[in-house]
Amino acid sequence: MEVTDPVCGKTVDLGEAEPVEHRGWAYFFCSAACRAAFVAAPDHYAASRHERVPPHGEAGKPSRPAQ
Ligand SMILES: [Zn+2]
Repeated sequence: MEVTDPVCGKTVDLGEAEPVEHRGWAYFFCSAACRAAFVAAPDHYAASRHERVPPHGEAGKPSRPAQ
């Protein structure tokens, strides 16, 4: 399962990424650098993209249409 890194736009494997929770949503990043960038300005990145999945429950099923 893959989601999009909200900072750089790369696809990230949910099984390998460590999520950052923000406003009730979990965000995933390709690298520590992207993670740090998001943590520094979460609202900036969270507002710019809508790639997000619920942090609890069906982690393997992001709430967006399959590609
Ligand atoms: Zn990235």
